[in-house]
Amino acid sequence: MSVSKSVSKIDSTALKYLSSYSDQVKDKVKLMLEQDTLGKFLLTRYPTTHSITNDKKLRDFVMDLKNNYLKKSSPISKIIYDPKIHVVNNALGLHTFVSRVQGNKLKSKNEIRISEMFRRCPEPFLQMITVHELAHVREKNHDKAFYKLCEHMLPDYHQFEFEMRLYLTQVEFRGEIY
Ligand SMILES: [Zn+2]
Repeated sequence: MSVSKSVSKIDSTALKYLSSYSDQVKDKVKLMLEQDTLGKFLLTRYPTTHSITNDKKLRDFVMDLKNNYLKKSSPISKIIYDPKIHVVNNALGLHTFVSRVQGNKLKSKNEIRISEMFRRCPEPFLQMITVHELAHVREKNHDKAFYKLCEHMLPDYHQFEFEMRLYLTQVEFRGEIY
């Protein structure tokens, strides 16, 4: 019963993946964690995981999206699942999930690295993260133009981002469901 005890002690500020959402949303999620219904909710909405399980398939998946929406943008040199990327809190967005090439010489080179934990997850979540990182090829900041581009590539972008964050919250407090 120690698990439910620790879960009952959480307060809304502990929901780091949902920090930018309203208190009303956080209270509801907190209740679902306490009653252990969040996992079932997610499984009902997303019963299956994607089949993009290796780097080659990931590359094809990302390039299909890029060729559809960002054909003229600069090329992407590397597309991989990266076990070194840890999913950590960032109230502003998801760019800590996937490190883009930073600093000095590598600046103009685009790489897309997706956290290893998304190798096994529902396809819309992988799609949402891919769209997010592809949008950064053109828009560096999380501004209006950035989110407009995300929604252009994936009309339900915001819904999927929210539910992906619910999934991360589930994994943190209650464990893996897939
Ligand atoms: Zn970002």
